[in-house]
Amino acid sequence: MSNLDRLWDIEKHYGNLDLYIKELKVLDENKEMHRMENRYQALKQTYEDLVVKKKELKTNLRKLEQEVQIHEEKFKIAEKTLYNGSVTDLKQLEHLEKEKEYHFGSIDKLEDDILESLGTIEKLDIEIDKISRDVLILDNELVEKKVESDRLLSELNDKIDKEKSTIEELENSCDENLLGVYHGIRSRKGSGIAEIKNDVCGGCHMRIPENIVEKAKLGKKIINCENCGRILYPLQK
Ligand SMILES: [Zn+2]
Repeated sequence: MSNLDRLWDIEKHYGNLDLYIKELKVLDENKEMHRMENRYQALKQTYEDLVVKKKELKTNLRKLEQEVQIHEEKFKIAEKTLYNGSVTDLKQLEHLEKEKEYHFGSIDKLEDDILESLGTIEKLDIEIDKISRDVLILDNELVEKKVESDRLLSELNDKIDKEKSTIEELENSCDENLLGVYHGIRSRKGSGIAEIKNDVCGGCHMRIPENIVEKAKLGKKIINCENCGRILYPLQK
């Protein structure tokens, strides 16, 4: 393998390395997973809010039921007093009648409230059930995504390590001065060596004069592109 071949090989491996590092960055950002995590947190919060709301409604329901009981007892007492003959005073009887009506009306109103509350709780139960299922599905999806992302991450890191060691190996067996020149161009241009394809520089895509192409093909010395400065690599010698 000539120095030029080695350099061309190095360039290809640097290209791979750049690509893998870019992929790693995208994977690290993992926007989709962040979006899923945000959705999961929001859904979980909604679920918890609904559970709290249901608890409050149930507490209130118990209160309403207790109130009904109190009114029922008072209604019974009024009724009993009204009909057991212990009260004969007309005004007092009238008063008891009104009291009876008041408790009856209160019970009626409270029972409406209880029914409404039960309906709301029923609707909440359906909603809580649906959201808890959604939370579970999303949670599973997140776990799967995380496993997949970890797998890709480890695969990518392996590839990066492999490229780095290949580059190191190739560079160790490459002429030091040439390597220095190559890296100088690479740091400015993004690549240090370019293939000649149909008399065109693969780096800057400019036509290369015929005599330069011929010199490059001879391979006796390093020829640079007159336009971009990259080392020229003749694919077909
Ligand atoms: Zn060029």
